[in-house]
Amino acid sequence: MKKRHIVIMGLGRFGGGIGVARWYALQGERVTVTDQLPPEKLTESLAALTDLPVKFELGGHPDKLLNDCDLLVVSPAVDKRQSAFFQSALARSVPWTTEINEFCRRCPAPIVGVTGSVGKSTTASMIFAALKAVRGEGRCHLGGNIGRSLLGQLPEIRSDHVVVLELSSFMLEDTPMIGFSPHIAVVTNLVNNHLDRHGTMEAYAAAKRNILKFQKADDIAILNRNDPHVSTWNQHTRGKVIYFDHAELALQAPGRHNQANAAAALAVIKAFDGEERIADAIGALEVFRSLPHRMELVGQSTNYLNETVDWLNDSKSTTPESTLTAVGAVPAGRTIIILGGADKKADMRLLAGDLVGRSWGIITIGATGPKIADSIRNAMKLDSRGDSGLGYRTQPMLIELRTLEQAVEQAHRWTIEKCLPNDKSAPVCVLLSPACASYDQFSNYEHRGSVFKELVGRLPQTSFHG
Ligand code: ADP
Repeated sequence: MKKRHIVIMGLGRFGGGIGVARWYALQGERVTVTDQLPPEKLTESLAALTDLPVKFELGGHPDKLLNDCDLLVVSPAVDKRQSAFFQSALARSVPWTTEINEFCRRCPAPIVGVTGSVGKSTTASMIFAALKAVRGEGRCHLGGNIGRSLLGQLPEIRSDHVVVLELSSFMLEDTPMIGFSPHIAVVTNLVNNHLDRHGTMEAYAAAKRNILKFQKADDIAILNRNDPHVSTWNQHTRGKVIYFDHAELALQAPGRHNQANAAAALAVIKAFDGEERIADAIGALEVFRSLPHRMELVGQSTNYLNETVDWLNDSKSTTPESTLTAVGAVPAGRTIIILGGADKKADMRLLAGDLVGRSWGIITIGATGPKIADSIRNAMKLDSRGDSGLGYRTQPMLIELRTLEQAVEQAHRWTIEKCLPNDKSAPVCVLLSPACASYDQFSNYEHRGSVFKELVGRLPQTSFHG
C-alpha cells in the first residue's frame, strides 16, 4: 500500500507533537514535522525523534508541504483562525485532524476527561493516583495536555482499563469533529483565560463545554458546585450529573483548592467503583505530592525561632489569580513571597492588597518588579518599613531586587535574622509564585522553577527535596 504523507504542524515542547509524529512514523507512514520555531528552540523534542525517518521543515511552515499532504495533524497550540498555513490547507481541502482526536477515536477504554481554567493537571494526576490505588498500576493511563501522548500506548490499553486525559480548551475546540465527549467529564472551574485566542469568554466556555456535548445517558459529568459558571452546566450534558465540593482530607498538597481537586478525584472513584475501595483512594490522595512547579515543596530550613521553613516552588503561576490562590494556601502572616517577571499587562492591584494583608515579607524581581512594588506600596499606604513603632510588624517587609538569586538570598536572610527587636513572628514559608510570565529572565516556567530549586538546594542548612 502506498505510504501516506502526514504533515504534523507544531512539534512543541509538551509531548503531543512528538507522540503523534512517532506514532505515524511507526505505522510506516511518511511523516514531515513543521514548526514555526527554529531547530535551536526545539532541541529536546527533536532529540526524541532521531531514531525515526521523520523529515523536518522548521522555522516556518512552507506552503509546498501541502502539495502532496494526505493528512495534516494540527497542534492545539496553533491558532487556526490566524494561521495562513492552516487556512491554505482548508482552502485546498486537505483533510486534517488532531493528536487527541486520533487517540480518542481508537481508545478502547473508558476515558475520564478533565478540563477547567486552573487545576487540570493536578486534578487529573490526583484521579490517576487514586485510580491506580483502587484498580492497580498498569490498568490506568494518564495523558493529554499534561504533556504525554498516549497514542504509543494504544497496543497495551485494554477495554477494562481506564484512561485519564487532561483536556485544554484548545484540544476541546476540535473534539466535536469526531463527536467525542468522555465517559466521565470533570470540570474544575472557569475564569477569564486565553481570550486572545478564543475571542470571547462565551467562546472559551463553549470550547470547554465540548467535554459534555456528546455525552450519552450512561455517561457522567462531575461539576464544581462552587463555580458560578460550571455549576450551571448540568443543562449541557445528557449524562448523570454529580457535583463536587471540598474534601476534608489530611492532604500533603497544600491549600483549599487542593481539597476541591481531591473531592473531584473521589467523585470519579465513586462513579466507577462505588464506596467499596474509597479508603484506598483516600490513602493515595493523602500522600499525593504537588506536581513540579505547582506549590512544590523543594526544601526546608530553620528560622530564628527554630521553626521549620518550607520553600515552595509555584513557578507555574503566571497570573495574579493563580498567585492569589497560592497565597491563600500558605500560613497567613508568616510567608515571604517572591514575585515578578515578564509583563503580561495584568492588573496587580487586587493581588497587592491581598499580599499586604497576608505576607510576612515581599520580594519583587524581574521586569514587573518595580510595578508590583509600587502597587504594594500603594496598598501599604506608603509605609514600606512596616514597623508599627511598638516592636511588632503591622505590614510586611518589602524589598525590590533584580534576580531570583538575590531574592533567595534575601529571603533566607530574613528567615535567620531577627528584623525587628521585639518580633515574635518569623517566616515559616518562602513561596516563589511570580504572577508573571518568565521570559524576561528564563526560557519558561520550568526553567525558572528549576533555578529556584537549585538556589534553595545551595542554601546552608537546608534539606533539599529535589
Ligand atoms: P492547570 O493544569 O489547569 O494549569 P495546575 O493543576 O497545573 O492547573 O495548577 C496550577 C496552579 O493553579 C497551582 O499551582 C495552584 O496554585 C492553582 N490551582 C490548582 N488547582 C486549583 C483549583 N482547583 N482552583 C484554583 N486554583 C487552583
